[in-house]
This record gives sequence, C-alpha cells and structure tokens, in this order.
Amino acid sequence: MARYAGAVCRLCRREAMKLFLKGERCYTEKCAIEKRNFPPGQHGKRRAAKMLGYGIQLREKQKVKRIYGVLEDQFRRYFEQAERLKGITGEMLLQLLERRLDNVSYRLGFATSRAQARQLVRHGHFAVNGRKVDIPSYLVKAGDLVTVRANSQKSVTIQHAIEEVKGRGVPEWLVLEGEQLTGRVVSLPTREQINLPVQEQLIVELYSK
Ligand code: SF4
Repeated sequence: MARYAGAVCRLCRREAMKLFLKGERCYTEKCAIEKRNFPPGQHGKRRAAKMLGYGIQLREKQKVKRIYGVLEDQFRRYFEQAERLKGITGEMLLQLLERRLDNVSYRLGFATSRAQARQLVRHGHFAVNGRKVDIPSYLVKAGDLVTVRANSQKSVTIQHAIEEVKGRGVPEWLVLEGEQLTGRVVSLPTREQINLPVQEQLIVELYSK
C-alpha cells in the first residue's frame, strides 16, 4: 500500500483533532483544526455525528497510524509484537511506536514533525550509540544515545528545527545532552509519559474481533 500523499490537514480534520503532522504550522492559527474542525468533504459535518462501536475503534486506530506515519501492515506487525510483550497490549503498542528512531528524533526536537524526522533519519543524519542508523523504524532501547552526526550538526533543517521547537521540552523518558545535539533514552516510556489523547484499548478491541 502506498504512503498517503494528499493534504495532511485533511487527516486531522477526519480525526477531529490535531495530529501534528505539519510541524510549525500546527502551532499557529493557520492550523486547519483551528479554522474548520469538522471532517473534510461535502458531507463531512453530517458524518461526524454518526460514529458507533466499530467506527470509533477504527478511527482510533487510524489516528494512531497517522500520528506515527505507519502503514497498515506495519501497524499490524507492531500490534502483534505488542501482544507478545509483557504488559497491557495497548500500552505496549504505543511504547513500540514511541521507540521508533524517527519519533525519538522528533521528540528530542531535532525535527519539527515526525515526517521531517523520518526523512532526516533516512538521509543518515543520526547515529545511535555512535553508529549511523538510517532506518526510521529502528527501535531505541533504554540507555541508547541518539546523536546528530558530526557532519549534520550544522544542517540548516536541523538547526531550524531546534530553534523552532525550543521551549517545547522533551518527555521525561528522554534527556537532551545539550551542545553535542545528543539525547539519551533514560528509560522506555510509560503510558503516562506518552502524551497522546488516544484510547489504545479500542485498537486492541478492534484487532481482537
Ligand atoms: Fe493537523 Fe498540523 Fe494541519 Fe493543524 S496544521 S490540521 S495539526 S497537520
């Protein structure tokens, strides 16, 4: 299945919430959710009122998939992996998604959006424990050190992102180690530390049918 290449703000409007897919714009009044918070399309306003059981579960899954920018098959594999882990499946699912290197780079403030982070990872701008990693889905572990590689430290995109997102802070499970553009994974994220307004148990219910 191909990656979605349409207008990303439509995805937020479809889910009736900010998914923060566009970086800086998401924090301004230009955000489409601020202006038109109803589903896109001719019958959008009418559709919003009709959601029940399966529809709600499906929307919750789509929401999470879109936030992290993963495709259906990949998402299903994360779910199966989460089921095999000790812990609450829904929480493990979110934890796996949070551990992706593109997400971690975004959370550390090296990119303005996960999409931008994904591209930066693919272009080889990051290293984990000193070794270049260009796989966005790479899963970090507790204790890992994520660094902007020496040749990329002056990258205009990365510098711009750092400037833009300064002050937003990083989640508790990550620590920025300042000047060297390095972040440490202190621990794996707990559900409380994953600041996402989603009901992950609905995704578990959907896949358990
Ligand atoms: Fe979503 Fe960002 Fe577009 Fe707002 S600006 S609708 S948060 S992608």
